[in-house]
Amino acid sequence: MESPLLKNLHGYVGGRWKDSGDGNTFDVFNPATGEVIARVASMTAEDVNAAIDAGSQALRLSNPYSLETRKGWLEGIRDALLNNKEEVGRILCSEHGKPLKEAQGEVEYAAGFFDYAAKHIQALDSHTLAEKPKDCTWTVHYRPIGVTGLITPWNFPIGMIAKKLSAALAAGCPSVIKPASETPLTMIALFTLMDEQVDMPAGMVNLVMGKASVIGKVLCEHPDVTMLSFTGSTEVGRKLLIDTSDQVKKLALELGGNAPFIVFEDADLDAAVTNLLGNKFRGGGQTCVCANRILVHEKVVEAFGRKLADKVNAMTVGDGMTDVDIGPLINKSGYDKVHRHVSDALDKGATLMAGRHPSELTGKDLFYPPTVVSGITREMACYKEETFGPLVPMVSFGSEDEAIKVGNDTEFGLAAYLFTADSERAQRVAAALRFGHVGWNTGTGPTPEAPFGGMKASGIGREGGLEGLFEFVEAQTVPRGF
Ligand code: NAP
Repeated sequence: MESPLLKNLHGYVGGRWKDSGDGNTFDVFNPATGEVIARVASMTAEDVNAAIDAGSQALRLSNPYSLETRKGWLEGIRDALLNNKEEVGRILCSEHGKPLKEAQGEVEYAAGFFDYAAKHIQALDSHTLAEKPKDCTWTVHYRPIGVTGLITPWNFPIGMIAKKLSAALAAGCPSVIKPASETPLTMIALFTLMDEQVDMPAGMVNLVMGKASVIGKVLCEHPDVTMLSFTGSTEVGRKLLIDTSDQVKKLALELGGNAPFIVFEDADLDAAVTNLLGNKFRGGGQTCVCANRILVHEKVVEAFGRKLADKVNAMTVGDGMTDVDIGPLINKSGYDKVHRHVSDALDKGATLMAGRHPSELTGKDLFYPPTVVSGITREMACYKEETFGPLVPMVSFGSEDEAIKVGNDTEFGLAAYLFTADSERAQRVAAALRFGHVGWNTGTGPTPEAPFGGMKASGIGREGGLEGLFEFVEAQTVPRGF
């Protein structure tokens, strides 16, 4: 595709665009049309090594970049993103498929992380303790952890890197960044902006694209990479834990979810439906925080289901460049997974309340109709697995204890939601749910100002908020005797 932000389709190493060592490329598709929209460099292991070396040269330990300097980088990236929101959003929409407005909203969301880090960077300043234990003056410094590998998924091509890169730059850490192979163009656009508009030392940010197995192996094995920050599936997160264990690298992992959305009998049902629609269908249901199991109290399950089905049947699906609610799914395997979950649920006795029966779908494109099924049971795939698509599976419950038990009945612990007018109940249930993010009467997801991350198999560490700013630093304590 033509864009002033896609003049180069290469990697970026040591402050320069770099073709892959062997000249190989891979194709990027528009999921709405199936067309190849770009061919980008597929980098070799040597290219990744060169990117790490460039990062090592940019790392400054004895003469660190000042807080003011780092703040300037963050503000520069924020401004570049906001000033180019339309074009970055257009690129994002073309390779991901989400509606254009949503794509542009994601660019603003991304800019928010750079803004937050710039405004709070002072938290990373050194400080001296008021106490003087052991007759010493104690100073605590926050040192950059080193060269970091940042690996991102396709579902938020700019949002996910913004969370990591803002904190890495705030800490003064150079990074080697690997975007998902479905959506490298938005990352290239970001690098074009950083190259042209932000004055950073060569090697602070490096871009490598291509085979995950090749790039992942080098990032895990290279001794100069001291931290990996990964967002993606729990399966790959587990592999990274194993592959970095020898060197005891720090890992920050943002992994999969299986969010319960619990509606109690005293909830405002209209508000719950509106919030569910906003939460569930963002990115076509391909978000880690979107509701995956909808638990509704048995007294209101019918009324809630009717309201929901009416709204879902009215939703439009199509090319994100046009005025639609939902775009295509990212690829054929994403489509097939949703299809399998709906078919499996219906085969095992669930009821189709909105959408189309899987047997009516041709599967010739990647547009999956938003679908609601009720009567979900533990044996169904959609109860256990993350669907990552526009399926709303409903199950009823009879008591608060049952809702908590079913809500927690998953290895994941990323996001959960509960709707009730009873604040004491809300406090009790939120505390009992083993999820890093629990929305009460809201389906909203993360924000730059607050820490976000998973419990259990959903991850390690936090992004956003002050907690996220501290992910890329190591505290060093210097007691001074005299
Ligand atoms: P994925 O298959 O795990 O891929 C994520 C990234 O890891 C991609 O860049 C991928 O590269 C790369 N990768 C794959 N295998 C690798 C390896 N062996 N070593 C190093 N990197 C490797 O996940 P996805 O399908 O893109 O994303 C969907 C998943 O991400 C869902 O489970 C979702 O819940 C999770 N997610 C979590 C959060 C959160 O905040 N917790 C946010 C968004 C998404 P290629 O593209 O080249 O394969």
